[in-house]
Amino acid sequence: MIPKNFLQLTLIFRKFLTPDIFELVFEKPAGFTYAPGQFVQFKIPARNASRSDAGGPQENNPAASSGASFVLRTYSIASHPGEPELKFCVKDLPDGKAPAYFKNLKIGDGVEVALPAGYFVLQPSPVQTNIFIATGTGLAPVRSLVLESLKNNFSTKLLFGVRREEDIFWDRELTAWATQYKNFSYLLTLSRPSENWTGSATSAGSEQAGSPQAGLKGRVSAHLPALIQSEAEYYLCGSLPMVKEVRQILLEHKIDSSRIHFEIF
Ligand SMILES: Cc1cc2nc3c(=O)[nH]c(=O)nc-3n(C[C@H](O)[C@H](O)[C@H](O)COP(=O)(O)OP(=O)(O)OC[C@H]3O[C@@H](n4cnc5c(N)ncnc54)[C@H](O)[C@@H]3O)c2cc1C
Repeated sequence: MIPKNFLQLTLIFRKFLTPDIFELVFEKPAGFTYAPGQFVQFKIPARNASRSDAGGPQENNPAASSGASFVLRTYSIASHPGEPELKFCVKDLPDGKAPAYFKNLKIGDGVEVALPAGYFVLQPSPVQTNIFIATGTGLAPVRSLVLESLKNNFSTKLLFGVRREEDIFWDRELTAWATQYKNFSYLLTLSRPSENWTGSATSAGSEQAGSPQAGLKGRVSAHLPALIQSEAEYYLCGSLPMVKEVRQILLEHKIDSSRIHFEIF
């Protein structure tokens, strides 16, 4: 269904965080409410989409197939509702219509979004430990969820995976949170690091800082078993293969499926 209500957001900032991920920051309209972890759908004008574009691989797109002048693309809100602006991180897919549209926007331009939606939100739970596992742009909703978890004084762990040094982003901020909040631990792992990877800033061009642990290597699944505890809620966000693999490991460790929450990009 095409959402009925759209509202306008004004772009105030854009920068590349890595060679193929960029950040977008929009003014938050008065009264804009959402739960940490939710997403919005952006109206992408049809000039950025062909008529044959009746939805991407994962997105049902009735707007395009009905001849409407836009397609809808889904992006998680990375900022916490307590923060003043609306932040997103966008994977710059080759031939991606949404990234092409976003990259052509000028500061001050408006975009239209449907009201926030989605169920990848913190669950009410007697368990006061939240463990987050994210890869790539899967960090977007997880950033907001981590802040919400910390706001509630829950024990909060984040295992974040990217491929190479140049793919690291928001590391400086996450590292600072790990110092600031005693109840937050942050692990960063690289599946395809260079030989020089030590966990500290090693390459130029991306937003990097020293990581709190000595250069972890391998996929998130390699480090997950050391983090698993029975009394925790698990939140997974990233590609389908990652979510499947991590979920399977959790189930093998007797984590009840009701405690495993995920969003697939
Ligand atoms: C709930 C939810 C939240 C999401 N949040 C984010 C987010 O915060 N940041 C973000 O970058 N993405 C996010 N995504 C994924 C994002 O919606 C899609 O990547 C986006 O719709 C692709 O649109 P496009 O116009 O760039 O690509 P299209 O123009 O539709 O396709 C361009 C090319 O990319 C390929 N492609 C399309 N989607 C993907 C994909 N997901 N992975 C790999 N190849 C793809 C297509 O096959 C095609 O070759 C989210 C998806 C969901 C369902």
